[in-house]
Amino acid sequence: MPVDLHTHSNASDGTDRPEVIVRLAVAANLTAIALTDHDTLSGLDEGRAAAERAGVRFIPGVELSVDHEGLKIHMLAYWIEPIDGPLQDRLAWLRAGRNERNREILERLRALGHPVTLDEVMAHAQGEAVGRPHIADALVARGDAADRSDAFRRFLADGGPAYVERVRLTASEAIDLTRSSGGVTAIAHPATIGLDAAGYGRLFSQLAGVGLGGIEAYYPEHPPELRTHLAGIAASLGLAATGGSDYHGSGKPGISIGTGRGDLVVPDDAVDGLLAHRPDRGAR
Ligand code: AMP
Ligand code: ZN
Ligand code: FE
Ligand code: FE
Repeated sequence: MPVDLHTHSNASDGTDRPEVIVRLAVAANLTAIALTDHDTLSGLDEGRAAAERAGVRFIPGVELSVDHEGLKIHMLAYWIEPIDGPLQDRLAWLRAGRNERNREILERLRALGHPVTLDEVMAHAQGEAVGRPHIADALVARGDAADRSDAFRRFLADGGPAYVERVRLTASEAIDLTRSSGGVTAIAHPATIGLDAAGYGRLFSQLAGVGLGGIEAYYPEHPPELRTHLAGIAASLGLAATGGSDYHGSGKPGISIGTGRGDLVVPDDAVDGLLAHRPDRGAR
């Protein structure tokens, strides 16, 4: 039976509550669901409680945006509990960096003739990790963009007129902090990094050498042959081939929990593959 190891709730930039995500996972007959909000663990208690009630396995996670030698990489960290810990403590710093950056983005938008206020943005954010998708929502509400994608295309995308960098961990810091917190990492949607085949080979083996646990092979935007190809690379490096839908509710139209755009199947052995990379797993 399949699993989904990449989802977002309204704790970050998804639109559904964590308990709704769990309900959708049950409806899709999944055996495990991971909640991986950006830079926050605040949805995990609700998600876990809903999963316990429904009898589905729940994997607490978080998605980080990291830097590796100038490359922007998204990294998923699994089995990160909403308690104090090395990675957990850095998340507060990352969220503070987001807030600072959000103010700078709003200054740029004002200079571009779109004076969105922070209050307007916060009206679209239910959780503590606020970012560009919520600014996009505020632009849409003002009539300055048609939808989130249009707002990114016109203003907010990397390199766009209102784009501002934010503080990031490096990939190896994220891996170390995750391991110190008892978790395991996977590179999210590697196709978005934009490397050639040789570049991917180098990246994956470098990060495997510093403790990476998996590669997200099964992803809606990966064509079937890329999913198979990435799963093969993961196996050759001793890494887990993981996957998920990157569900964001109505924030990312056309994506369903479990099945992505209809053809996603993430094998449940991805969970055991990740578990094999967890530090001190004998003690757990
Ligand atoms: P941030 O974390 O604030 O930098 O915003 C990045 C998030 O915005 C990503 O994780 C996606 O969820 C979302 N996003 C990125 N590009 C787009 C896009 N073109 N259209 C809609 N949402 C996007
Ligand atoms: Zn997102
Ligand atoms: Fe991502
Ligand atoms: Fe994501």
